[in-house]
Amino acid sequence: MEKSEFRKRAHELVDWMADYLEQKENYRVTPGIAPREILDQLPLSPPEKPESFDQIMEDFKEIIVPGMTHWQHPSFFAYFPANNSEPSILAEMLMSTLGAQCMSWITSPAATELEERVCDWLRDAKGIDSSWKGCIHDTASTATLSAILTARERVTNFQVNENGYSGKEVFRVYSSAHVHSSIDKGLKIAGIGVSNLVRIPVDHNFAMIPEELSLAIKEDIAKGFKPLCVVSALGTTSSTAVDPIKEISAICHEFGIWHHIDAAFAGTALLLPEYQGLIQGHELADSYVFNPHKWMFTNFDCTIMYLKEPRYLVNTFSMTPEYLKTDLDEEVNNYRDWGIPLGRRFRALKLWFVIRSYGLEGIREKLRNHMSLAKTAEKLILSNPDLEILAPVNFNTICFRFHSTNLQLADENRHNESWMNQVNATGKAFFSHTKLDGKFVIRWVIGQTDVSEKHIENAWSLLMSKLEEIKKESISTNG
Ligand SMILES: *Cc1c(COP(=O)(O)O)cnc(C)c1O
Repeated sequence: MEKSEFRKRAHELVDWMADYLEQKENYRVTPGIAPREILDQLPLSPPEKPESFDQIMEDFKEIIVPGMTHWQHPSFFAYFPANNSEPSILAEMLMSTLGAQCMSWITSPAATELEERVCDWLRDAKGIDSSWKGCIHDTASTATLSAILTARERVTNFQVNENGYSGKEVFRVYSSAHVHSSIDKGLKIAGIGVSNLVRIPVDHNFAMIPEELSLAIKEDIAKGFKPLCVVSALGTTSSTAVDPIKEISAICHEFGIWHHIDAAFAGTALLLPEYQGLIQGHELADSYVFNPHKWMFTNFDCTIMYLKEPRYLVNTFSMTPEYLKTDLDEEVNNYRDWGIPLGRRFRALKLWFVIRSYGLEGIREKLRNHMSLAKTAEKLILSNPDLEILAPVNFNTICFRFHSTNLQLADENRHNESWMNQVNATGKAFFSHTKLDGKFVIRWVIGQTDVSEKHIENAWSLLMSKLEEIKKESISTNG
């Protein structure tokens, strides 16, 4: 493509982007298409000859956009959001234009030093101990895997890295029964094995019971196992339950076990001083991860990991072959040594744009708005005697279901699933579910960049109109 054509096309695309952002709520949230419907519109082989940009763009509009789930739609209430914002999108444009690969200081000095600074900014704004240092990863899954590998190397004095597993010790990792599946995956990859993940019972709020943790560790030691790491959750994926960080940190400290805090989604809430009590006692923990790409208006992907003693991480991952050596290596951060991949994107740039454009105050205001919309939704649900909420609303996630004393659990579950599916099938809102104590619950997560009162009201009307149908069905089941 000629530079002059690039200029023209880029201007056209910016118009398309601005139109999309203005009109995103006119799309269906989910496309309502069948599997292979997109595949069948794509040629079996790539073009041999160049195609015009107009043609490519037309297919983007005709084939791709109608097949997308619109994650930035204000009525996307499913999973956790991956919310973005205009400043973040603009920074992504600059990142791809610079096309820098930020593996070492020398390959992008500004990227390295900006990463250090924005990580420090957010650390201080979140009330994390000022001696901790941060680095950016692609996802929380990668950061948590890094923490597990680092814990393994710290406890073996880097011997597994060097010689592989001797097989002498069986490592054990502990988490609540509600832990995210990325922990299981991390244990598979780290060679520890999912059967060595010990799931500690939770209380009625779905938070880990520290006494049970302590007991499990002691039992394991008595059996000859080697306790390695505890992964606590600050906001579980099912219901945003918060494990008691202070008590868990103290237990880990007592037994010399790595404590990794998974705050992937809810960690953003710590930008609000009123939530910072949740990480009281974290000074005794070892690492902490959260995703600005979930709830901090920063395009996917962007995860920040903080470490009390980064040297363990760096010693676990550093590899300096001759062709990467520089005479500055003692003085600077080479972030390639802080994680698994060698190559790294310039993710700090979008954080910098987001933080500066909103200011911390602007971000806090948006977060408080989400919490308050969640309160509104919670009140609506509580006002309806056919519904119940099954977990505390700690942040902006509500787990609720239709409930009838005349129904068996299996039937209740079936009706709730059908209720959610009918709502989702309209394309006007998108919810996802989980199970709490075997009960199917719908999760309502209110964290989109542009979500407002109106979207909550519309979603509520939609839920209510479909609930009427479900109630009719449930009466016929019963009768
Ligand atoms: C979303 C989530 C993860 C995984 O996040 P990725 O960045 O997609 O790997 C891990 N833990 C919790 C608690 C989460 O909510």
